[in-house]
Amino acid sequence: EAKSAGRNTFCFYNHSMSNQARDRLALEQALREALAGDGLSLHFQPKVTLATQAICGAEVLVRWSHPVLGPISPAIFIPLAERSGLMVELGAWVVNEACRQVSELLQAGITLPSVAINLSVQELERLGVAEFLADTLERYGLQPSMFEFEVTETSLIHREKVVIDVLQRLREQGFGVALDDFGTGYSSLSYLRKLPLSTLKIDRSFVVDMTEDEVSASIVQTIISLAENLNLHLVAEGVETIEQRDRLMEMGCDTVQGYLYYRPMDLQELICLLSSSNASGQ
Ligand code: C2E
Ligand code: MG
Ligand code: MG
Ligand code: MG
Repeated sequence: EAKSAGRNTFCFYNHSMSNQARDRLALEQALREALAGDGLSLHFQPKVTLATQAICGAEVLVRWSHPVLGPISPAIFIPLAERSGLMVELGAWVVNEACRQVSELLQAGITLPSVAINLSVQELERLGVAEFLADTLERYGLQPSMFEFEVTETSLIHREKVVIDVLQRLREQGFGVALDDFGTGYSSLSYLRKLPLSTLKIDRSFVVDMTEDEVSASIVQTIISLAENLNLHLVAEGVETIEQRDRLMEMGCDTVQGYLYYRPMDLQELICLLSSSNASGQ
């Protein structure tokens, strides 16, 4: 009895593992095809200045809709791209496509003060990444001062010196650099001394809890004061409720991003939104 149950369990386990490996390979292959074809797209999520409610920028977020499975979260396919050696190519596609779409927006006579692009560690470690970014912008006639790159603390763990040098280069070229998901990585405070940052982004998890839990509220307040003292811009991400917004405002936060204001949207929607808000004098 016990023996056969054990054997069955073993077989079942083995079977499900190989299924998992097969699923992963299939997903990786599909991502490869999406990247080679035109299976990826971009969304833009506006950032809002609290005092005026005006749109002060937008973050570029990559999207993938699998032909059978439908939309897959970047929280799944970005790590997959990293594990399977596709990240540099995927990141280059994002940067190029973002520049193409932003130049289209500017050509339509619309202003957008700033555009943020996420960079993963593999992109930062890519040889000549600073030149690649500067060249791509130049090709589309775009100014570096309009762009900011978002990096996470975890991307600094392995080759800290290489990454900090790249970020330094980016700042020298006129780009902004934001520390994304701030507060969730390791040694946050020691990195703040070494990193050539222009912006801190408070992680959504603190914002979610800040109206329920006083510890989270204190952390948010502390990060806001820290940014002020270090002369960094501050963005609170994941703002979904009026209560969160009001509390952030009281605490002196100036910029927010979240579903309360705007969800990520495609270029056409962004153009519509910006032309109506430009017209209404925002
Ligand atoms: P992130 O850079 O921290 O981006 C913010 C994420 O929070 C986005 O998820 C956005 O859609 C979501 N978000 C914004 N406001 C709210 C809100 O009010 N509530 C909730 N629940 N979520 C909100 P998304 O687009 O699924 O992206 C997930 C992560 O994938 C990003 O986190 C970023 O780390 C990565 N990612 C996305 N696009 C790119 C890209 O083009 N390149 C790289 N390297 N990473 C990317
Ligand atoms: Mg980001
Ligand atoms: Mg973030
Ligand atoms: Mg995040």
